[in-house]
Amino acid sequence: MATPDPRRLANQIAVVTGASSGIGVAVAKALAAHGAAVVINYSNDADGAKATVADIEAAGGKALAIQADVSQEDQVQAMFRQTIEHFGTVHIVVANAGLQVDTPFVDMTLEQWQKVIDVNLTGQFLCLREAAREFIRRGVQPEISKAAGKIICMSSVHEIIPWAGHVNYAASKGGIMQLMKSVAQELAPHKIRANSIGPGAIATPINLSARDTPEEEKALLSLIPYNRVGDPTDVGNLAAWLASDEADYITGQTIFMDGGMTLYPGFAEGG
Ligand code: NAD
Repeated sequence: MATPDPRRLANQIAVVTGASSGIGVAVAKALAAHGAAVVINYSNDADGAKATVADIEAAGGKALAIQADVSQEDQVQAMFRQTIEHFGTVHIVVANAGLQVDTPFVDMTLEQWQKVIDVNLTGQFLCLREAAREFIRRGVQPEISKAAGKIICMSSVHEIIPWAGHVNYAASKGGIMQLMKSVAQELAPHKIRANSIGPGAIATPINLSARDTPEEEKALLSLIPYNRVGDPTDVGNLAAWLASDEADYITGQTIFMDGGMTLYPGFAEGG
């Protein structure tokens, strides 16, 4: 997978949510480099989405920016309608959009809880459902892919690692785990694969505050046995491979990409 092969996802259409910054940008670019035409979903950051489209087009790929708040059913449905009108169908969805609203548990308002659940969990439900409806309607196109559709959920190490001060976020990612696995079980007979990527610390705007002083960076690295923060392109390459037929027998799995964060590094010397 080191060198992008534009035949790997040739003639496939992908929707990547939250592709105006961070991991979503890298995923969209990787899918495009491997030959997919990509819908660049964004909520507010039109400039970020435009820049992603421009970069993909400059590299010879195809991309279209579509605005939709993934927590709003009508907007998600409109985005998939527009995608199908423009490109004909959808083969890959990467439900990546997500946010954090961090606050101590006892101070957390219902609004703060609900916002994170609405975007991170309900947003993925809505995107997966619209994609799956189209995958089932169209069925397998053997000349394009062995699967009728590929679902990739952007989860987190926090689908299994508890996170004090971020209860809403950790709950949303734990929910994504069972959403993805249950969808994978239900849709496998339709030749639809569903998997998650569980990133550890990847250098993007979402976690800038955890890295902006040398002390914070050091504390973060103490949680990462491999001793580096991840790069969004690491995640992009994994998403392109997971969406390809090289991963055709993988479904219902979370692949953690975390430099060993889920290896309980505290036990390397303690315990
Ligand atoms: P980011 O803040 O750069 O990107 C998040 C994207 O989601 C942005 O483009 C934002 O505009 C979009 N978004 C937010 N609300 C939206 C909405 N309602 N509708 C549509 N788009 C919306 O952060 P990132 O690190 O690139 O995060 C991407 C995903 O990766 C998230 O699901 C996040 O939980 C997950 N993740 C990130 C890390 C990390 O270390 N960066 C680790 C684990 C998981």
